[in-house]
Amino acid sequence: MNKKLLILPLFALIALQACRNKTNQNADENGEKALPLVSPDFNADSAYAYTKAQVDFGPRIPGTAAHQKCVDYLVAKLKSFGVDVAVQGEKTQTYDGKSFQLKNIAAAFNPDKTNRVLITAHWDARAFSDQDTDPANHAKPFDAANDGASGVAVILEMARQIQQKQPEVGVDFVLWDLEDYGKANDETPDETTWCLGSQYWAKKAITTGYKALYGINLDMVGGGSAQFTQDEISRQAAPNVVNKVWEIGNEIGYASYFTKIPSGKLVDDHFWMNKAGVPSIDIIHYNDNSGFYINWHTQLDNLANIDKNTLKAAGQTVLETIYREK
Ligand SMILES: [Zn+2]
Repeated sequence: MNKKLLILPLFALIALQACRNKTNQNADENGEKALPLVSPDFNADSAYAYTKAQVDFGPRIPGTAAHQKCVDYLVAKLKSFGVDVAVQGEKTQTYDGKSFQLKNIAAAFNPDKTNRVLITAHWDARAFSDQDTDPANHAKPFDAANDGASGVAVILEMARQIQQKQPEVGVDFVLWDLEDYGKANDETPDETTWCLGSQYWAKKAITTGYKALYGINLDMVGGGSAQFTQDEISRQAAPNVVNKVWEIGNEIGYASYFTKIPSGKLVDDHFWMNKAGVPSIDIIHYNDNSGFYINWHTQLDNLANIDKNTLKAAGQTVLETIYREK
């Protein structure tokens, strides 16, 4: 994700003061009875273990051994959940003139079903921690436990649950490569140096006539004190999906995470999913008072700063959304 276009509307800042205090509790903390769910129980310990497994390879930077080991792991893990898995991509040039073999990982449950939902996250790690408070760290890689691994881990846990009990709709999972290799101050309108995996996929999806009811992209869904505010692209392109997911999140006990507060335009992979004709939203850690996850693109985006409660909130909400779909 690029920072340039993240304009926090003034009204969100004002709304913040009013909402801050009453959105700090979830169902577990205040003892409310959670509603019976139609979805299986999302296991946050399992999602945490999948986060750790990725982090243990080292930073999954395109072109590195860690990246190759991780793609092998993700393909094998998804296959173990009984889905067909394909690695898709082509030689792709990054803004700095380097060239990498793009490796998007696609898995489809019930490929014959017409009604499908598309759930995605990026699996690559950014090559430099250029938001670190210490400039000496700007050229160094980082663990990308939240910015990358967490969304993928939530998807792996959802896939594990789906294998046990199928929802009524078909589910497509795509794990994006080369999301996070973009230029820090990309001035192009669509920030095209970022999200290379989803840009490639979108072109293909248009050619093949891919259809889904909607898409949900997960990005940084494992950090502490997370708020998933509602970004402008999601609100404009897929307002019904935003409302549905945030409503479910609130209903099942995660109101402190799924805050119904608008945020600015975040060009993330959902932007390209929308370009491909799939109404898509982003569930991304972007707090109404402080913006992105505090350790975003820094050395501190590591396993020690992963919070299982956030993995649970994101995972259970998306899983419940999938299982309510017909
Ligand atoms: Zn990032």
